[in-house]
Amino acid sequence: MSSPPRRVAVIGAGVSGLAAAGELGRLAQQSSVPLSLSLFEASNRPGGKLLTADFSGARVDLGAESLLARGPEIEATVEMLGLGSSLVRPATTSAFIWTGRRLVAIPKDSVLGVPLYPWRSDVVRAVGLVGAARATLEPLLRQGDPDPDGALGDFVGRRVGQAVFGRLVDPLLGGVYAGPAKELSSGAVAPLLVAAAEGGGSLLRGLRRAAKAAPRRPGSTPFVSFEGGLQQLVNGLVGAIPTGTLHLNRPISGIEPLEKNRIRIHARGEPAAEFDGLILALPAPAAAVLLSPISDGLGPLLRQLEYSSVTTVTLAYPDAGLSRPLLGSGFLVARRPRRTITACTFLDRKWPHLHQPGLTILRASAGSFGDEWVLALDDTTLVTSIHRELRAILGLTQLPVDARVERWHGALPQYRAGHLSWRARVAAASASLPAPIELTGAAFGGVGVAACLREGANSAKTLWSRLSPP
Ligand SMILES: Cc1cc2nc3c(=O)[nH]c(=O)nc-3n(C[C@H](O)[C@H](O)[C@H](O)COP(=O)(O)OP(=O)(O)OC[C@H]3O[C@@H](n4cnc5c(N)ncnc54)[C@H](O)[C@@H]3O)c2cc1C
Repeated sequence: MSSPPRRVAVIGAGVSGLAAAGELGRLAQQSSVPLSLSLFEASNRPGGKLLTADFSGARVDLGAESLLARGPEIEATVEMLGLGSSLVRPATTSAFIWTGRRLVAIPKDSVLGVPLYPWRSDVVRAVGLVGAARATLEPLLRQGDPDPDGALGDFVGRRVGQAVFGRLVDPLLGGVYAGPAKELSSGAVAPLLVAAAEGGGSLLRGLRRAAKAAPRRPGSTPFVSFEGGLQQLVNGLVGAIPTGTLHLNRPISGIEPLEKNRIRIHARGEPAAEFDGLILALPAPAAAVLLSPISDGLGPLLRQLEYSSVTTVTLAYPDAGLSRPLLGSGFLVARRPRRTITACTFLDRKWPHLHQPGLTILRASAGSFGDEWVLALDDTTLVTSIHRELRAILGLTQLPVDARVERWHGALPQYRAGHLSWRARVAAASASLPAPIELTGAAFGGVGVAACLREGANSAKTLWSRLSPP
């Protein structure tokens, strides 16, 4: 007799939920266990923070624009989705930092902004002679073991000095998380740096050893995108789940544990439906709303995670309006002189397939943790102030001919010091939920698209093993 189907719901069709749903389908097929799968999404489109749009003749990403294809897992996912032939790599890997006075190149041999050879001229240009000399002393100073969940600013600042931290590490990691890097958890956001300094050794020597053990081709980068933007990844993931599984415009408003480990879920305006297992692939505050009524501990815990909000402003300029060439893939803005712009990508220099004759397409980011006022500006004010800053930094002489503003509220979780212990507490509290429910998403195992793909698939494996014990 064939076994009854496992009824599983995934809530949230961002990249994490899509990856979880795809993996559930594969696991069911492999084990020949029938699966009834539903993927509920509150908005009218799948993809969450991935959104590609037509802009001045190109397909441009307005949210995430690349993913880290490091390791066989992601390569296998790309191949499995049939996207290998559409993969594109950046044409240039060099990038700059705007210091408030000039653009300085990010030193070539560096890891998350920490230069491996601080005495080199590109480091001296970026952090000054005193800053470079201070970093050079690092191997000679007495080192303690880094606190793996302590503040990154304390760890890296004490090792290589505040100049390297403030002028290189903070713009880079602060850009990824859209918040101050000094308060982020070292182990959660920079495990490579923690590993390099483990055992009380020198951070710089550890980084150099790691670089020698795994040399990279000069100019190579593990970041990739697709010819049709990251929407192509979303389309691939949607195509990999059974037809009729994805339910859009279906915000889930309640979860109710029933007898025998079953779960009833409520969607606004829909009859309740019952499931054997659930994956919540949601930002932490949305998961908190659903879990608070069924768990005393999880709701308040999930609400502790804070998010930054950001906006991306994509602009097209006539080539004739460039008074000097744009070098590299773009620039980050150091925290101190920052006004509105936090970063700018020269989209069609970085991704040549986006090039449109006679045009230059730039994408500026604005807003970060504590600087959310930027999102309240109306489009015209925002575009005008971004244009003024770009004009000063890049020497633009003409107005943009096209502009598009996208606001991302609750964009990026802040993995502050203590994040690893927070994650352990969430895992412990989830283990005592009264039904098979797994949590995944950018709040937990990494904010990057690749990490979300990996963690989404892992949550599916864990749930599946809970539902189908050997
Ligand atoms: C502007 C920006 C640029 C970025 N750039 C990059 C980049 O270049 N590279 C990179 O690797 N990462 C980047 N990131 C980070 C990355 O895109 C995100 O961390 C990742 O996409 C998050 O995916 P997720 O599925 O976990 O969450 P989300 O994308 O937030 O998906 C959650 C989904 O749940 C839905 N939802 C919420 N509540 C409910 C409910 N009650 N019922 C049903 N559905 C619900 C939401 O509508 C949403 O679709 C960027 C992020 C932003 C905002």
